[in-house]
Amino acid sequence: MNHQPRRSSTMQGPRVCDIREDGMAAKRDDRKAFEALLRVKPGSKVDLGRFDCAATFGREKGPTTDELSQVLARLTDLQARIWAEAKHAVLVVIQGIDAAGKDGTIKVIAGAFNPQGTPVTSFKVPSALELAHDYLWRVHQRVPAKGEIGIFNRSHYEDVLIVRVHALVPEERWRARYEQIRNFEKMLTDEGVTIVKFFLAIDRDEQRQRFQDRVDDPTKRWKFSPADLAERSRWDDYSVAFSEMLRETSTSYAPWYLVPANRNWLRNLAVGEILADRLDALNPQYPPAAAGVEGTKVE
Ligand code: AMP
Ligand code: MG
Repeated sequence: MNHQPRRSSTMQGPRVCDIREDGMAAKRDDRKAFEALLRVKPGSKVDLGRFDCAATFGREKGPTTDELSQVLARLTDLQARIWAEAKHAVLVVIQGIDAAGKDGTIKVIAGAFNPQGTPVTSFKVPSALELAHDYLWRVHQRVPAKGEIGIFNRSHYEDVLIVRVHALVPEERWRARYEQIRNFEKMLTDEGVTIVKFFLAIDRDEQRQRFQDRVDDPTKRWKFSPADLAERSRWDDYSVAFSEMLRETSTSYAPWYLVPANRNWLRNLAVGEILADRLDALNPQYPPAAAGVEGTKVE
């Protein structure tokens, strides 16, 4: 097994988290709420090549374990209310390059929820039936119902990512999808769906180490496919596609959060805290008792 210490990406030169449209760099020790810090402002020019995927924002791993358990406890309480109230639907979208930690994030975050109210959908290579429909067909069916927090592991965004990188449809088709996706998400939002999108950013060297771990560790080997190396060789093409996706589809109503994901503990904390803050903003309440229930003595 490969357990070498992880090299910090900051060794490759100064990096910033320049995700604010005013171009100001968020400082690495900026201790603001992750929701404000990592939200991609609409139209931001995101340069993933300069993004510090190992940023910690002054948080530390030790105390973070406590912080994470507090965040998970908040999530448990909020989800119970959302489920009981059955008023809001919440759609959590998780994207990121291979080995960015999508599965690990879902395991930790969804672990705080009652599985009954938490449908998780993993979008794979489309089936023949799916390909015979428009690209949003399979996605729309999986949008959560009121009371549910639905999690997408990959999503309709693959249709402007892998589809673009492999030229699976002509450029005018995938380019038109940015606007279509904005409109689709606007419609969902207007109809009562809260959309929270996370992009997990690891750097190239981190992916190399994670792939190597998968090869070397028999319990992880099943996750690795030789095709992953072919995708890895298109790293720069993916970077361009990710950056453009973030710029084109981070909106006021369905923002992307750009999460430094080289460190799993920071990633989990950031995703958990942002989601808890967004759920809090819905102010979910347990429904009032039906008339005559209060004070009833059950014989
Ligand atoms: P994994 O997440 O490792 O299970 O792999 C799923 C694979 O399905 C990834 O390589 C995705 O890029 C691919 N995939 C997901 N959605 C699409 C899509 N709409 N078109 C083509 N490939 C897709
Ligand atoms: Mg894979």
